[in-house]
Amino acid sequence: SDSPALPTTHELRARALAGLGNLGVTVPEGGDFHARTPLTGENLFGLQAATAGDAEAAVADAHAAFLTWRSTPAPRRGELVRRLGELLREHKSDLADLVTIEAGKIRSEALGEVQEMIDICDFAVGLSRQLYGRTIASERPGHRLAETWHPLGVVGVVSAFNFPAAVWSWNTAVALACGDTVVWKPSELTPLISLACDHLLCRAADEVGAPRDVHRLLLGDRAVGERLVDDPRVALVSATGSTRMGREVGPRVAARFGRSLLELGGNNAAIVAPSADLDLAVQGIVFAAAGTAGQRCTTLRRLIVHRDIAETLVERLVAAYRRLPIGDPFDENTLVGPLISTASLDAMNSALARVQAQGGKVLAGGNRRLSQAAPRAAYAEPVLVRVDEQTDVVREETFAPILYVLTYDTLEEAIELHNDVPQGLSSSIFTRDQQEAEIFLSAAGSDCGIANVNIGTSGAEIGGAFGGEKETGGGRESGSDAWKAYMRSATNTINYSSELSLAQNVSFL
Ligand code: NAD
Repeated sequence: SDSPALPTTHELRARALAGLGNLGVTVPEGGDFHARTPLTGENLFGLQAATAGDAEAAVADAHAAFLTWRSTPAPRRGELVRRLGELLREHKSDLADLVTIEAGKIRSEALGEVQEMIDICDFAVGLSRQLYGRTIASERPGHRLAETWHPLGVVGVVSAFNFPAAVWSWNTAVALACGDTVVWKPSELTPLISLACDHLLCRAADEVGAPRDVHRLLLGDRAVGERLVDDPRVALVSATGSTRMGREVGPRVAARFGRSLLELGGNNAAIVAPSADLDLAVQGIVFAAAGTAGQRCTTLRRLIVHRDIAETLVERLVAAYRRLPIGDPFDENTLVGPLISTASLDAMNSALARVQAQGGKVLAGGNRRLSQAAPRAAYAEPVLVRVDEQTDVVREETFAPILYVLTYDTLEEAIELHNDVPQGLSSSIFTRDQQEAEIFLSAAGSDCGIANVNIGTSGAEIGGAFGGEKETGGGRESGSDAWKAYMRSATNTINYSSELSLAQNVSFL
């Protein structure tokens, strides 16, 4: 059932101010750039957006800081990240409040987002004592061949609303350990959590004696992001958001021979095989499809079910969908909070209208909720839709909780359907057949950057590299060796003999 009442905008404003106050942030009020909350759909504060001059100064300052930061020993750079991690632990609850107020996440997911920031700080502290290069066997006597990793420069981080803080931390903790400095342009929908993160990092920098300008924040809309995209002093643009955004950003950065790291949309699927443990599958599917109100890049959007178990599984999913508590994300019973805006709800409704025109049948959900209590907010029931084919609307990412259910007869057919979309982020198979699982994980299986077995598509740990193929943009962030994107490598040939020998036996003179 719906939560009985929603907090008022007035209460949310007070809660945001209290959290920011505990964090030590003073809100620079008074501009026409608004912090808002999807809980009521209303504005909280007027803030100042960055001007072109602010962007220019931020990049110049971050570049100046880079010139000293790059020569600071990496383990000392790690001390800054360690302090940031401590401050995030200390302020976990207030930070999670801001994530809920601005992004609409339920409490447990908002706390999870802050935990993810803490985890990546721990990872980056360890990394600051690694950043390994290799020694390579030289073909010449008396020579050594080595690979050295150096800091890259200013990293421009452009982030999306749905992980308003974690995506920043994946980039920033690793970039700082790697000796880079950061200019951050967060989503225009989440300025308050951005002010909080920037403030904590600034505090950490003061406390450990790092240059203040290792991090600069620029609030504003895409025009501010475009400044980072076009600035030749920004060595790497790490941009997270829609494929539409990446299609604009990628070529512009490439035109100036900058580097880009793109983390774009997904259209993630799970295959459910006849041998699957259905209790586990139902739990995994409902969390991945309806969790975060369907607004994760890794949200499960397509379910490819073996024909023999489709009826049973769909029945269980319909029952689970009907029980999902929707409403106030601060209420501990709620599992589905609001969509970010009524524009998202419009996109959801238009996708539903299109898929029904293409033969899709709605099995559960799809109604708007709480429209009387909060007419400017967008609460919606997650929806299950049975489709016979993967039509154009199914092949698009609609950033809302719609799960399309398809059926298959052979694993080969399932994998073909699975891969037949433009995006390639996350994927999974539910099966107890090892051969099927291995085929799905093989080179001829899932074509995604993330491929799972007996767990849903969403909810990655920071230890692995995160990202996807095709229209998802090809970037990898967070763990494993994703750090290499934030550094440049140099190959060194060192001759410690008294002879000059040329490679490939070339003789000269
Ligand atoms: P969005 O594309 O609307 O905005 C993302 C960011 O890009 C914002 O900060 C925006 O101001 C900026 N931006 C937009 N156009 C730009 C341009 N031309 N130049 C520079 N900056 C520009 O995305 P959103 O609605 O905030 O987030 C949802 C989308 O993000 C979904 O498609 C989701 O799948 C994707 N996403 C991907 C990942 C991932 O890691 N692959 C993670 C989170 C979200």
